[in-house]
Amino acid sequence: MSEKAIPYKIYLEESEMPTSWYNMRADMKVKPAPLLNPGTHKPLTAEEMSGIFCEELVAQELDDTTAYIKIPDEIRNFYKMYRPSPLVRAYCLEQKLGTPAKIYYKFEGNNTSGSHKLNSAIAQAYYAKKQGLKGVTTETGAGQWGTALSMACAYFDLDCKVYMVKVSYEQKPFRREVMRTYGASVTPSPSETTDVGKKILAEHPGTTGSLGCAISEAVEVAVKNPGYRYVLGSVLNQVLLHQSVIGLETKAAMDKYGIKPDVIIGCAGGGSNLGGLIAPFMGEKLRGEADYRIIAVEPASCPSFTRGTYAYDFCDTGMICPLAKMYTLGSGFIPSANHAGGLRFHGMSTTLSQLYHDGYMEAVSAEQTSVFEAAEKFARIEGILPAPESSHAIKAAIDEALKCKETGEEKTILFGLTGTGYFDLVAYQKFNDGEMSDYIPSDEEIAAAVAKLPKVE
Ligand SMILES: *Cc1c(COP(=O)(O)O)cnc(C)c1O
Repeated sequence: MSEKAIPYKIYLEESEMPTSWYNMRADMKVKPAPLLNPGTHKPLTAEEMSGIFCEELVAQELDDTTAYIKIPDEIRNFYKMYRPSPLVRAYCLEQKLGTPAKIYYKFEGNNTSGSHKLNSAIAQAYYAKKQGLKGVTTETGAGQWGTALSMACAYFDLDCKVYMVKVSYEQKPFRREVMRTYGASVTPSPSETTDVGKKILAEHPGTTGSLGCAISEAVEVAVKNPGYRYVLGSVLNQVLLHQSVIGLETKAAMDKYGIKPDVIIGCAGGGSNLGGLIAPFMGEKLRGEADYRIIAVEPASCPSFTRGTYAYDFCDTGMICPLAKMYTLGSGFIPSANHAGGLRFHGMSTTLSQLYHDGYMEAVSAEQTSVFEAAEKFARIEGILPAPESSHAIKAAIDEALKCKETGEEKTILFGLTGTGYFDLVAYQKFNDGEMSDYIPSDEEIAAAVAKLPKVE
């Protein structure tokens, strides 16, 4: 098909939307290592997990053999309110860069929560409702997950208790108000409302918090309150499963026009958008049907893949959560408060960690001022004000496109534009005022946190 026939935006019909999620683990020869009980260091059983998570989600978490899992109609109907999301051909950006590369991005910012997180929030709220629960607890960092979950809980009439990393709670008051508007209660973390929060505050007075702290608090509240379970917006297998809707739609849209990406790029915090975007492509790669270059982009200030250690670690600072084998900076690692744009988790999805370890994907890191330069360029050329997280992927996509300009290669580059940056204007303000700096942790700092990894035989 000639290039002219490819529109700026490729939309699927509702009838072309995926009816099942795709579980990459089914096609992995080396499966991700299981979550371990933090006390016994034995693999967590479904029964142990069901005290923390909803039953159906536990089943999804542990399932590494079923390739396709049906999307319940109730969830598909909710998806139809904001999906299919557009796959955009970045013609304007290509022209401005003067690159022979063809650039596509899948835009997930077209819903009120402003990010891809709603794809999993609605699924998790649905299963909680189906189990007859009263409500769910969670943590939120930059606030997108808490917002998405508040929307999902409002839809299914569930109570929603959000522990929000203190620095974000203070920097992003408007996120907090969106969550409250959807009916959630929002507590800055660490807080005095939990035992683990009190302990962390006693040890680190004045801390601005971390995702790891907030997770500990949310889990404690879920475990202590009957009728509540804990839900998590990234990292877990179930979240990658739900997010596969991004990749499945992308692949369907590309197949419609006979497009094949050479390079697939996504930002990586806990790995959910990247895991979702690459899912069907990685499936082909794992089955030996096709090959793609896949690149994870992470902040230089929180570089789990590029400078972390592949080992079992706690998912939270309070060390009450299960152990996950992942690329980690150590659960005691707290990114500099100077770091503005999300992606603050110390670890990484176990599935992506295994794939990275086995050489199925690459990783790069980017410093935040260069990320905001890419964001500014993208906003001015493509019109969308991107989330700082998403801008890591933009930065890497622009770098790849500029390499093509040098070599004359007409590569097809696909990246995930995970969300919009309307609630990140304090960070944009810093950038615009020339007050943004880069913080790169020293080897000593990382070594100190990694030295405290739990000893697992
Ligand atoms: C949460 C978030 C991310 C990072 O989380 P992943 O689980 O790594 O996808 C990226 N972009 C946006 C807009 C987010 O809200």
